[in-house]
Amino acid sequence: MPKSVLVINCGSSSIKFALLLEDQEFRIHGLAENLGTPEARIKGVTVGNEPVDIRIPNADHKQALEVGLERLANYKPDAIGHRIVHGGTLTKAELLTDDIIEKIRQATPLAPLHNPAHLVGIEATKRLFPDLPQVAVFDTAFHQTMPEHAFRYALPKFLYTEHNVRRYGFHGTSHAYVSERGSELAGSFKQGGWLTAHLGNGSSTCAIWNGQSVDTSMGLTPLEGVVMGTRSGDVDPSIHSFLASNLGWDIYKIDKMLNSQSGLLGLSNLSNDMRTLIEASEQGNEDASIAIEVFCYRLAKSLAALSCGLPRIDGLFFTGGIGENSAYIREKTLAYLPHFGFNLSKEQNDNLKRGTEGRIDAGKGPQIWVVPTDEEGRIAKETENVVNEVSQAAAKKFEADVAMA
Ligand code: ADP
Repeated sequence: MPKSVLVINCGSSSIKFALLLEDQEFRIHGLAENLGTPEARIKGVTVGNEPVDIRIPNADHKQALEVGLERLANYKPDAIGHRIVHGGTLTKAELLTDDIIEKIRQATPLAPLHNPAHLVGIEATKRLFPDLPQVAVFDTAFHQTMPEHAFRYALPKFLYTEHNVRRYGFHGTSHAYVSERGSELAGSFKQGGWLTAHLGNGSSTCAIWNGQSVDTSMGLTPLEGVVMGTRSGDVDPSIHSFLASNLGWDIYKIDKMLNSQSGLLGLSNLSNDMRTLIEASEQGNEDASIAIEVFCYRLAKSLAALSCGLPRIDGLFFTGGIGENSAYIREKTLAYLPHFGFNLSKEQNDNLKRGTEGRIDAGKGPQIWVVPTDEEGRIAKETENVVNEVSQAAAKKFEADVAMA
């Protein structure tokens, strides 16, 4: 039974580390950012909430991992959990065997920015902690319960059967944690129909029936769905041929525009950061105001669409940096959904303390909750479960072998 789990989220432009110690309130955590630039650094907190700030000028992923992991090795973790964005059709967290690493590699065309970075992280932890059990926890796994009518695109069949072109969904760790915790708070643990809105730099919605994902807004890649910080979310797919024919853009330029220059940033021509946009809108910036309005309208539209996956709606959970902290965005979004019977309590919504969980409906209609997400905690728990299952299976096999001998 692992007592401490090291969680690694090795992303395309940053690396997040967290060490979760059993029976300890605090977590050691760090973020390596600005990698490959003179400003590269690792910031975070260590034991006793002591701040850490290590400058690592020009360090790349590998060097940053080595600096971070060597320090964390002093705390002797018992297991390592890796956040992996794309697991293809893998349905649950898995012990990192050569076969699973190969499957992560094979899913690279579906997450070209993320999976190669995860593989760098896996290679580093295998080298530095060769004897520790390591587990891959996939963002896509929670959504593998979606029915086929929700995960298929209306495209020629061979693209699905021969090339795996289908909807996968992401942010699964967060949707799983928040819906589980939220339904527990609501007194119906993993029962009934719930909608979740994970609103951060990347945003997605999910419909959950009896604890299982039945539909979600992201698809083949994390570009589909609602408006995000720099990602467009849904657009007419003909935008590609339109831009190619009329502006002479190639596929890479179009892809970059849709992923990095669109969303809140593209609409506002100002920022991808919701706080900045709310402040600018309050000061009369019209582009910021329309960016916020499009964000809320499309979010409401996505929640309405996902409700088709649920026999009934028991409630809605908001999470992520925007969902947890902005009463304004929650109110604006729900104003587009009066016909679903949502009844927000303005007082409870406005007074909910930042970073806390709480109920914000007026007691009529579906419940509305704010539930801070805990992806690291969920990854640590799933890692622990896989390690325990594997050691129990090994113990059983040993007993059986002894009995046979
Ligand atoms: P990530 O997806 O990178 O984990 P977060 O979940 O931290 O991101 O969310 C970041 C977003 O949350 C940013 O757009 C930020 O402006 C927004 N945010 C954080 N606090 C507030 C707030 N008080 N009001 C509005 N937006 C906020």
